[in-house]
Amino acid sequence: MRKKEVNSIRVPVYRDSGFELDDALTTAAAFEKEKEHPREPEKYIYSRYRNPTVVSAEEEIMKVEGCKWALLTQSGMSAIDIALSIFQNGRETRPWLFFNEIYGGTISFVENILKQRRGIDASYFNPSGEEYNLEEFEKELKRLKPQVVYIESISNPLVLVADVASVAALAKQYGAIVIIDNTFATPWLLKPLETGADLVIHSATKYFSGHGNLTAGVICGNDSQLMKSAIEYRKFVGHMISPDDAYRLQTQLKTFQLRFPRQCENAMKLALFLENSPIIKKVWYPGLESHATHSIAKKIFGSKGYGAMMTFDFDGKDSSEKRNRRDAFIKLVSGSIKLIPTLGDAETILMPVEAVWGTKYPEPGMIRLSIGFEEYNELETAVRMALKSL
Ligand code: PLP
Repeated sequence: MRKKEVNSIRVPVYRDSGFELDDALTTAAAFEKEKEHPREPEKYIYSRYRNPTVVSAEEEIMKVEGCKWALLTQSGMSAIDIALSIFQNGRETRPWLFFNEIYGGTISFVENILKQRRGIDASYFNPSGEEYNLEEFEKELKRLKPQVVYIESISNPLVLVADVASVAALAKQYGAIVIIDNTFATPWLLKPLETGADLVIHSATKYFSGHGNLTAGVICGNDSQLMKSAIEYRKFVGHMISPDDAYRLQTQLKTFQLRFPRQCENAMKLALFLENSPIIKKVWYPGLESHATHSIAKKIFGSKGYGAMMTFDFDGKDSSEKRNRRDAFIKLVSGSIKLIPTLGDAETILMPVEAVWGTKYPEPGMIRLSIGFEEYNELETAVRMALKSL
């Protein structure tokens, strides 16, 4: 079959590693245009550079995130690598400032790659208690004059909500680039590019794909110069997503706006339920009035919800009783809530905090829940039955 276009409404999965360029003149023209790093090239050259299925999926993300460009990558970590690395130019000596409450994998990247291998002067900004203090942040900005500020809009696992607009405004005042990991909040709750961020990244492994069945990342922005740098970096290091994953991501993204609000609703109900349990000492969920960043979350998210991540801690007379309760709970709910070290899946999953973060969060009874979009009553029943048996 020689037909190149068929009457399908979808861009198919183009698995071509290279594309036909006919003759030397066309080839020279395509490579010349490639130097401008267009988002969607006139002639595709090589799938590591750009691929039509990937470009089509990126356009869907642009609609959801409300941005001028989006670039898909093969993981959230590669999106983070691109977002940061494009600001490293060999001459810059200003430090990079990372908020301390960020994904552990990002901290490992900062420590092992940025600091140890690349010699970047990176430091961390700690929350005061369980809240980011903007006055303290400004003091750090004044002291360090960082080139880059990096923050997660909702942190992990304490789900601290950052006042992203204020953080970005302050950082800009001191000449810093602002990069936001918006994985937990998603554009349903927050679009940081509208409130001053330069770049937004997501682990699309999570809510964008939403079914725990693919690994992907995305970097989003509005500035065309940053886009060109990001396209160039993605191409040179080969952080490109596969066309198959891009296609599946695009399909699954179509239900994001249905899935995520439902996950937020389930999370709100379960957080209220957990908070009333006599054997649970504390629940961290920004929708609860008891959460340190509740008022910020309310101000920023309005009535859209508070995300689908929460952490709770078992009460107990000592650490051993807390651990026993945690372990028994994990066993009792395992028929319906699995221990899987990811988040943003269709069904509710859990992770024991101590086993992953060690002593960073000293309460041994802590469990992090990623709430799914299953029938709420089933979820509450599984949790209620487990708590009753403890
Ligand atoms: N950012 C956040 C907030 C995450 O939770 C994760 C992974 O869990 C990542 C980034 C990295 O994403 P990936 O695992 O897709 O590389």
